[in-house]
Amino acid sequence: MEPVEKIFDTRELNVNMGPQHPATHGVLRLVLDIDGETIVKVTPYVGYLHRGIEKLGESMSYFQALPLTDRMDYVSAMSNNIGYCVAVEKLYGIEVPERAKFIRTIAGEMSRIANHLLWLATHALDIGAMTVFLYCFREREWILDLYEMICGARLTVTYPRVGGVRNDVQQEFLESLWKFTDEFPSRILEYETLIDQNRIWLLRTKGIGVISAEEAVNWGMTGPTLRGSGVPYDIRKFMPYDAYDKVDFEVPIGTVGDTYDRYRCRMLEMRQSNNIIRQCIEKLPAGPVMADAPKFTMQPKDKMMPITHPTKQHAFFIKEKACKGCGMCLRACPAKAIFGEKKKPHAIKQDMCLGCATCYVTCKFKALVIVPAGKGLSDEKLAELAEAPVPEEITKASEYLVRQFEFVKKGPKVPEGEIYVATEVPKGELGFYFVSDGSAKPYRMRVRAPSFVHAGCLPRLCAGHLVADVIANIGTIDIVLGECDR
Ligand code: SF4
Ligand code: SF4
Repeated sequence: MEPVEKIFDTRELNVNMGPQHPATHGVLRLVLDIDGETIVKVTPYVGYLHRGIEKLGESMSYFQALPLTDRMDYVSAMSNNIGYCVAVEKLYGIEVPERAKFIRTIAGEMSRIANHLLWLATHALDIGAMTVFLYCFREREWILDLYEMICGARLTVTYPRVGGVRNDVQQEFLESLWKFTDEFPSRILEYETLIDQNRIWLLRTKGIGVISAEEAVNWGMTGPTLRGSGVPYDIRKFMPYDAYDKVDFEVPIGTVGDTYDRYRCRMLEMRQSNNIIRQCIEKLPAGPVMADAPKFTMQPKDKMMPITHPTKQHAFFIKEKACKGCGMCLRACPAKAIFGEKKKPHAIKQDMCLGCATCYVTCKFKALVIVPAGKGLSDEKLAELAEAPVPEEITKASEYLVRQFEFVKKGPKVPEGEIYVATEVPKGELGFYFVSDGSAKPYRMRVRAPSFVHAGCLPRLCAGHLVADVIANIGTIDIVLGECDR
């Protein structure tokens, strides 16, 4: 072959894209080696958002570390929570009640829809479609409103709990969610009408970032990023958890493995999620939402309500003779209601006391007592009541309260061993690996985050394409750097 005669001499350029770039979806830095407009090489640099979640997790009990998972992929916090809880439940060896399983499946699929909506909104915006962005946010807001109805939070939810869910769902929530699922398919049609056959969208996504099924598997891709290449791997089907074995759904796959196929997979997945939610609402069984395993789970708060009830029918009182004046309760009291000098008996200002019971569990000398008393009783009367036998109701509630404190502060000990449990979150396979040394904290905690693996595939997807296609390739793998950097 005759060598092509070059009219101009060109040289490769080395340019930075990010870490502060609107299309990198977080603090991702890509170093691009370009020849004119063509990408020769892409090197992703992650780590700008390092949160040390894995190391923090090793310094906390399994129960305490749950809210950390909200901060990983903050776009789908609910799914991260579920993944973490499923893993810890396997480690504890506890079974979640059926109702809680269905509720978690509903919450997980809501999270998948909310994630895919944000992905579509930003992916389309990056490529130049503004209207889809606004439409998707309209529905995502609706989902976040529904989140608020079940747990009072929109972003960092911490609703699923080890052993079940924090609280049961109300009928009002189920009715609102049903209405959402009634309307949502027509909203998906609206998005598709805007972009599905749009010439610009097709030019920017078809044939871009093509990866074969074999290569995608070898690169460790999972979720819709893998399924776009035609591999029907979905953990919800292969290793069902929660209520996925009790609902019918399909796993959409692509054929070519390009950006367009991955887009189609996610659109079809939203429809499947909608169907799963409807099936779960129809099949939702009655029953408890927390496992019956007091050693491993947080029990309902109403068991200690006799003590901390806001009407304050019970008061906390320091027995003068038993108090050593160590000051522990004084330092712990959030209301600054305790006063006293060092090594002298302390006392509580009853009108400032919130009834939180922190002092009760803090005192090592058992100098604090709970007395059944109405508001405004004199200290003399309280002292008199403190000497009287404590009613059984209070004794039980105070025992429960102490157990609750110990559970939250120290956590239950788990048997020695190691475990890896994966769940299907919207971005792919989210796995938690724990090594237990028999204590209440993980000896090692590692997270297999799909965004981290997918960010590593960018050099393969971008090579040979144009600079503008880097944007489409970042969008198509749907990464969030909070999870990537952990
Ligand atoms: S913690 Fe107990 S002993 Fe120490 S000051 Fe308070 S009531 Fe007294
Ligand atoms: S019950 Fe709570 S608010 Fe009241 S004195 Fe004890 S620590 Fe302070």
